[in-house]
Amino acid sequence: MKDTLLSQLRFCTNLPSLPSIALKIIDLAGRLDTNLNQINHYISLDPALAARIVKTANSPLYKSRHPISNISQAVNILGMHGVMTIALSFSLTDSLMKQSRNMMNPASSGLFWRRSITSALACRALGKRLGMSRLLDDLFLAALLQDIGILAFCALLPEDYSSIIDTATSHEEIYNMERNQFELGHDELGGALLAHWKLPIYIIDACKRSHHMAGSNQPGINECVAASGSITDYFLMPGDETRIAAAIDVTYSSLGLDKFALMEVLEDMRNELQHVEELFAISILNSNQLNGLVDEARELLTTRTLIKIRELENKVQHDGLTGAHNRSYFDDALRSEFLFSCQQETPLALAMIDIDHFKVVNDTYGHIAGDGILVAIVRTISEQIRQTDVLCRYGGEEFALILPGTSINDARHLLTRIQENIQAIAYKLDSGHIIKVTASIGLAVNMDREKSFMDERAMLDAADCALYAAKHSGRDRIMEWNPSLVSHTQR
Ligand code: GH3
Ligand code: MG
Ligand code: MG
Repeated sequence: MKDTLLSQLRFCTNLPSLPSIALKIIDLAGRLDTNLNQINHYISLDPALAARIVKTANSPLYKSRHPISNISQAVNILGMHGVMTIALSFSLTDSLMKQSRNMMNPASSGLFWRRSITSALACRALGKRLGMSRLLDDLFLAALLQDIGILAFCALLPEDYSSIIDTATSHEEIYNMERNQFELGHDELGGALLAHWKLPIYIIDACKRSHHMAGSNQPGINECVAASGSITDYFLMPGDETRIAAAIDVTYSSLGLDKFALMEVLEDMRNELQHVEELFAISILNSNQLNGLVDEARELLTTRTLIKIRELENKVQHDGLTGAHNRSYFDDALRSEFLFSCQQETPLALAMIDIDHFKVVNDTYGHIAGDGILVAIVRTISEQIRQTDVLCRYGGEEFALILPGTSINDARHLLTRIQENIQAIAYKLDSGHIIKVTASIGLAVNMDREKSFMDERAMLDAADCALYAAKHSGRDRIMEWNPSLVSHTQR
């Protein structure tokens, strides 16, 4: 699917296209001998664009001391590279905004552009805070285009993709659904589209890395673009505690900026939003939302402690009853561990653990006792595993255990210990009665010697098959996946 989509980019006729002025600017930007006359000439061919660049140079975004009235003067303030970058931002946005109205429903298209332009503003504000003053226009353009892959998806797979954007409730969810359904996200697809358009390499790279939150000692354009998305998620939905917690985490871990610096970035965005809204003729937040935004963020950051925010974050990642990780955390963890295992050629073990005849336990002793046993089982398993192992509550009384860097032999030993320790649980009721349980376990290992599964879903299916076989052959046992299990284990 992934390769097909990437190759379709070259031939698909309904992909968004670039206006001729943008093509010319990209060409000029790639040459060493570009001069002021050429820029003047091409931009003057589009008087509306020229007027907007002059307006930009006069706007408070660039604190020019003298009024600017033409492109040559704008070049004095913004530099040649600055003028070209700003011209590209305008001409690309204008043309793509029009095209996107035919590709998405009005609400999705509106949100797409509000998010893109707000990310651009956030990225520019981050750059200012980090002292990257010579790169502000590049940061703006790179962040503006980071989600362009969404438009490419709309063009390539109009029906499948509209069901994603119509159902997803957050940008991160869109990204996860893309990766699940199409094996690639809009970061990679967008990077390929920008490369096809011959945009500068730094813009392509930033797009490709826009969903990778890696820390760096010397943050650059890529890290700012990746962080701009999280800040935007909060900016567009102020007052949301989990979103501000996510923004704090990302700006700190990938840019080294603390929560006070993040406040300054939000304040800067608030002060500049109106100018950007005017220049791009778009409405992003109304004045009430905007006025409340920084105060709300400040309240979240100061009166409520970070510990409280961490608690909320924990709730998002953990199951409320047992404290094990929840299903959505599991999906992300398995995906990244599987990728790591294949790339680094290190083994990865996955075990599915299901309590035997648990319904009978519940029916006989009641749900409260059943809940207590689930808590005891999680405690017992947690005592046996390393910090890097991930224990998740996969469903009711079924658990998934991700064991990075664990060979089949090591996994066998560990799971045997876990099986014995579960058998040893003696759950005592108030009446003095003792309840005993057993578990069935299915095991699959990737990269024990070679890559065993196409993707993480195939690995999960395999562990599930092995679990089913363990149940089928009598319960209270560990079964390892092998290819012959597949045929008779369709649940
Ligand atoms: P098997 O050996 O085939 O796994 O049989 P089972 O009874 O364990 O499996 P089944 O899927 O038929 O039933 C699972 C039961 O687990 C049903 C439900 O009562 C119980 N269960 C699921 N979630 C919870 C929970 O959160 N608390 C409690 N107390 N029970 C739960
Ligand atoms: Mg994105
Ligand atoms: Mg069960």
